Amino acid sequence: MARFTEELEQDMIAIEHQIKDRVQAVDRIVDLNQWKVIDAFQNHHVSDFHFAGSTGYAYNDRGREVLDLVYADVFGAEAALVRPHFASGTHTISTALFGVLRPGDELFYITGRPYDTLHKVIGSVGDGHGSLLDFGITYREAALQEDGNVDWTAIENGITTATKVIGIQRSRGYDWRSSFTVEQIGEMVRRIKAINPELIVFVDNCYGEFTEEYEPTDVGADLIAGSLIKNPGGGIAETGGYICGKKQYVELAAYRLTAPGIGGEVGAMMGTTRGIYQGLFLAPTLVGQAIKGSIFAAAMFEKVGFVTKPAWHEKRTDLIQAISFTGPEHLIAFVQGIQLAAAVDSHVVPEPWEMPGYEHPVIMAAGTFIQGGSLELSADAPIREPYIGYMQGGLTYAHVKYGVLKTIQVMKERNLL
Ligand SMILES: *Cc1c(COP(=O)(O)O)cnc(C)c1O
Repeated sequence: MARFTEELEQDMIAIEHQIKDRVQAVDRIVDLNQWKVIDAFQNHHVSDFHFAGSTGYAYNDRGREVLDLVYADVFGAEAALVRPHFASGTHTISTALFGVLRPGDELFYITGRPYDTLHKVIGSVGDGHGSLLDFGITYREAALQEDGNVDWTAIENGITTATKVIGIQRSRGYDWRSSFTVEQIGEMVRRIKAINPELIVFVDNCYGEFTEEYEPTDVGADLIAGSLIKNPGGGIAETGGYICGKKQYVELAAYRLTAPGIGGEVGAMMGTTRGIYQGLFLAPTLVGQAIKGSIFAAAMFEKVGFVTKPAWHEKRTDLIQAISFTGPEHLIAFVQGIQLAAAVDSHVVPEPWEMPGYEHPVIMAAGTFIQGGSLELSADAPIREPYIGYMQGGLTYAHVKYGVLKTIQVMKERNLL
């Protein structure tokens, strides 16, 4: 091969041998999810004509209507709203929350501080930005315990008559914690419903789709949301998001997305429909490629002395691989190494910058076909202690291996290893 040093290539082969059982277990999940997606397409008689775009109001766009039905089936939900009109994951989650919450209600996150971009959706009283708090929707959260589990004492004490929505974030996001498996989320739903069956359990499912055999809606979550720029877009969908769950809640979210009384009945798909279908079809397999890459990355970074979360042998429920680096130089070398392995934009050098919605400078590697697409190999790191780098995605396993090896090569060149 001689693309890397003999030593590094030997390391790669040793790591592949070490992780082979874990990698094989991923294939089993891919099979189950791929078949589930095909079943949903077949049940709804998806045909070529469904892929045609629509314009104007797009009343009775059959491709859009069937897409919602297919998503609902795949996610084990009553209803779904899958639209290119969602600009990002944050927009999708915000739409779901504003859809079901009313002034005087409280949103209670039980998995600790949510993802950075949601802080401004929650907002502050009188911020004038139309945040939840600006509309008189209060917010509370229960921090996770030291061991990473939810704190049931704090949750039971925190739920009041104002509590309307319980928020759960499946993925670790930019936090050094474990992600929550679908089984754990199912257990949370059971305990919440035992406290008050009227509480609406909302799950931020970003990065989780198709990493396990089941989804949060399969185990009782009332409403979930995610981004087509991540897993379920399959690297093909050009933009969008989805909301799935109980029919009444999905409908309320649709009223928020368009207008009350109109909901999901309008919305031109323009040229996006085929890509959203095809992306969903490919997603289970591509998520599998990315997960294999994450397992490889964890094993390789552990070998060179970094602590990783999850460790290579641990169960996975999202795409994110966190690596604890010793300082900003390693962190920057890591992100720049991933960029050097990209097929797109490998010639640009990422630098830290202030991103809208984030509270610290962030450095990102994203040599992607879809801008910011994070089912594609990408890496990000907020420049803050304790210098944790996050990588996710990879449309092909071979690409992730290439990225990880590049990263280690860059660190060696800079005498950081
Ligand atoms: C990515 C992500 C979001 C926000 O999605 P954007 O597309 O970045 O707006 C929210 N929650 C989690 C857990 C995420 O991973």
